[in-house]
Amino acid sequence: MPLSIRRDDLLPGRNFIGRWCEARQGRRFDVADPATDTVFASVPDSGEDDARAALDAAHAAFPAWRAMPAKQRAQVLKRWNDLIVANQEDLGRLISREQGKPLAEGRGEVAYAASYVEWFAEEATRANGDVIAAPVAGRRMFALKEPVGVVAAITPWNFPAAMIARKIAPALAAGCTVVCKPAEDTPLTSLALIKLAEEAGVPPGVLNIVTASRERAAEVVDVWLDDPRVRKISFTGSTPVGKHLARRSADTLKKLSLELGGNAPFIVFDDADLDAAVDGLMVAKFRNGGQTCVSPNRVFVQAGAHDAFVDKLAARVAALKVGPAGDEGSQIGPMINARAVDKIERHVHDAVERGARVVVGGQRLAAVGRNYFAPTLLTGADATMACACEETFGPVVPVTRFESEDEVIAAANSTPFGLAAYFYSSDVRRIWRVAEALEAGLVGINEGALAAEAAPFGGVKESGYGREGSVHGLDDYMHLKYLCQGQL
Ligand code: NAP
Repeated sequence: MPLSIRRDDLLPGRNFIGRWCEARQGRRFDVADPATDTVFASVPDSGEDDARAALDAAHAAFPAWRAMPAKQRAQVLKRWNDLIVANQEDLGRLISREQGKPLAEGRGEVAYAASYVEWFAEEATRANGDVIAAPVAGRRMFALKEPVGVVAAITPWNFPAAMIARKIAPALAAGCTVVCKPAEDTPLTSLALIKLAEEAGVPPGVLNIVTASRERAAEVVDVWLDDPRVRKISFTGSTPVGKHLARRSADTLKKLSLELGGNAPFIVFDDADLDAAVDGLMVAKFRNGGQTCVSPNRVFVQAGAHDAFVDKLAARVAALKVGPAGDEGSQIGPMINARAVDKIERHVHDAVERGARVVVGGQRLAAVGRNYFAPTLLTGADATMACACEETFGPVVPVTRFESEDEVIAAANSTPFGLAAYFYSSDVRRIWRVAEALEAGLVGINEGALAAEAAPFGGVKESGYGREGSVHGLDDYMHLKYLCQGQL
């Protein structure tokens, strides 16, 4: 087993509800390695009872946690950060084993997750309110920041450590308590992180996690959606599920952060540095095999640069090494599961039927394993193709040729989504024009790697609302209380 870990206790294999425990009904489900489809672990398949028990624990723990001075909460988070960093190798291996990303990326994700914990440990001590200049005599006016209450965090499989950290760290920093459900495909990394949080001194009941199979995900989450004691839902995942959560939590008017799907455009203008643009696209597109929400899904190249750009890109895409996460040289691992590969294949077939040309790849890599797809470059893509309308979430680059700036801005914005967008240009006037015209929450300008704990991460339109990270990230877990003292 090339991805074995040193600390066996980082695989608790149970729920954490004030203590480590089995699901009430005793059910479990299997966790498989996407590289081989081999089952290598199992975790509780929780249901309604477990979800309610977790919520009871989080609700009971809230008064003491919110009353703890922010500096003490920050110290707990700092210890959690230190433990995550100290266990980077084991956590990286766990991520690669259950999620399939190459080991170097697994290690990188751990560092990225830790950066959010450290950031919010620091932000916890700066959650200051305001002293307001009163407009009338004899009054003093203040705005206090208070934690919203119990937070339900629901996370996807593509960044099993980072998504947990990006939600739980600000919630705990703000003084909220948490119930959490990780994705079916990647529960182990989340449980390992909770184990380290326990070790860091997060008190029992403050942070609870229940794992569930895809069949029971709704059963667990519905308990939290319907219960008025949950005051906020923090969700990262697909847009259809995000909309369902927004609808179902409307009856109890919960605060929501929804980090949803994208359909990122990547635009290369004639005046761009083409080598830099190819480098940026390779980084942005092929990280995690294209299974990221900010992955460029549609690549637009201006006519004058098109052929040179495609030639340079084809050489780089053809050279990518595909293989299991445990092979140090692998740059693209397996896709998360068979459904993901089916979708990628459907997109490529649909594009070819509608006139796209396969320049590199274009097929499954069955000789490597069932869940592998070749890094693929298509030209002649257009807006009618499935790969232009839906997230492909795989290693496929569909290139569309364009003529004018107006035309490409209209095409880039012609999607209900608005998470990330990228463009390459060396014209400073164009840079400001295009950056302001793109309908997206994040814009990479001559840059393919955008995410950082210090930056506000989130989308517009149907990519959701709320921001994670940055000096604004804590506000999503707090509300403002206005105090007015009279008779002075
Ligand atoms: P998903 O199917 O929406 O699942 C996300 C989470 O929701 C999982 O824990 C899932 O559990 C749970 N879930 C599924 N159906 C549910 C239901 N009916 N009620 C309650 N919970 C439910 O998304 P995914 O396929 O895991 O993740 C990929 C998506 O996430 C992509 O669209 C990607 O763009 C998006 N994403 C966005 C960001 C961002 O910051 N904007 C970051 C990363 C990923 P199961 O795993 O058990 O199904």
